This record gives sequence, structure tokens and C-alpha cells, in this order.
Amino acid sequence: MSNISISVPEDYVDNMEQSGENFVSVTFRDIDHSIPYDYDYYDFKNINFIVKEIHIDLDYTVGDISKASTLGDIWKVLKKTREWPSYSVMKWFFEGGAIRPYFKEFLQYLKIKKDKTGIKIMIHTSNNDKEGYVSWIKYMLEQYADVPEGTIDGVIDATTAISYSRCGATIKHIDHNVLIFDDKPWNVGPFNQAIGVVPYYQHVDNAPFFKFFDKKLHNTLAQVLNDDEERYGTAGDDYKNDQVFHYILEKLDKTLN
Ligand SMILES: [Mg+2]
Repeated sequence: MSNISISVPEDYVDNMEQSGENFVSVTFRDIDHSIPYDYDYYDFKNINFIVKEIHIDLDYTVGDISKASTLGDIWKVLKKTREWPSYSVMKWFFEGGAIRPYFKEFLQYLKIKKDKTGIKIMIHTSNNDKEGYVSWIKYMLEQYADVPEGTIDGVIDATTAISYSRCGATIKHIDHNVLIFDDKPWNVGPFNQAIGVVPYYQHVDNAPFFKFFDKKLHNTLAQVLNDDEERYGTAGDDYKNDQVFHYILEKLDKTLN
């Protein structure tokens, strides 16, 4: 076995596909896509195939929900349980702005389409489902949108990804009849099956979480949450008037049969 090393300017590398310990190929972004970072480029005008499956990215597409992972971990440690918290514990977070406006209507619309046409709905994320995190979020989204459990057929997570982009997110290789919604549409191949959505950021105040814990734990809880906020917190912009899923709903009905 021989090692081959190559040297390329980092800015030009889109992703390196890896097989075992050997890099098998390097893709150059600017050769693949002519207008890669322009959201307008990833629009419904490109969609000219029969859509049989819808993939939905999680972070910053569905909402600003990555804090759910911290909240869930805190819950498991302090409650000494292996179970992720129920929707009644998380309701304040998901209904307090973490989920993008009109996502509820979007999922309810897809449920109706699914009943009529058998279209498949999947979560497709760079997150890892090893601890059941992504499956738990999927269930939380179904609760939030008030659709039956199983409306979202399943999850595709980082464990099945075959390559990564420079930003650390997975490159999402999708089949020919899949339509995907993603805030990083340039990480999708083929590009003309992705609808780009600008990232959604929304800070949700943690206060309602405290009532689930004994008073003597409140200081610890505040410290962990503040540390997490400092490290991963997003800007305090207010996105509650975000119209992205409203726009998608308008366009989607013309795309699906
Ligand atoms: Mg994302």
C-alpha cells in the first residue's frame, strides 16, 4: 500500500471524498458550480423532475434548534435518565421561536400530500443519530406540527455520509427523485435538486426550562446554559417574521403533483 499526498490551495477545495484511510478524490468547487454561494441559484426554477421524496435539513433550515441537544443532555444528567425529554418539557423552546414560522403548515401540507401520493419525507442532517438525538428531534417536530408520529418517514444522518465539505457539514448525495431544502444547498449533489433557504437564527430565553428542576440545581443549570450560549449562541436578531416557508408553500404545490 502506498500513500499519495497532494497539495492544493485550500480555497479551491470543495470536498475530499474518503474511502477508508485513503482520500480517493478531491472536488474543486469552482469547477463544479458557477454561482455556488448564491441562494437565488438554488430555486424552484431548477426543479424539473418528478419529486418522490422530500428531504429536510435540520439546523438553520427547520429552525435554530441546536440548543435542544444541550437541553436534552442537561435533562438526562440532572434527571438521571437515558430518555430524551418529552414534548411537554420542550414545548417552550420549540414554540418560543426555535422553529421557523410556517414550518408547521409546511409539514401539515406534506402530510396531506403524502396521504394522496405516497411521497416520502425524510430528515437529512449532518448531525449524528447515535444517541437517538435526530430521531428525537424528528418526533419533537411531529409533535410541534401536530401531525401523526411517522409523518416523517425517517432520518439520514452523518453516519452514512461519504464526504464532508470544508465547513464540516456533510456533502449530501441524493437520489434522482429527491428534492431537498437546505441552508447549505451548495453541499448537495446534484445541485439542481436543492432549494436554498437562508439560515434562520432565533434566540429563545431559557427561563421556562428552570421550572422542571429543583431550586438547588438552578445555579448549576444557569452556568451550563450561559456557557453554552457563549460558545454556540447565535446573534440576537429577530427572525419571527421570516417568510421562507411561506414562500416554499406557495411554490411547492406547483412542483408536486
Ligand atoms: Mg443546516
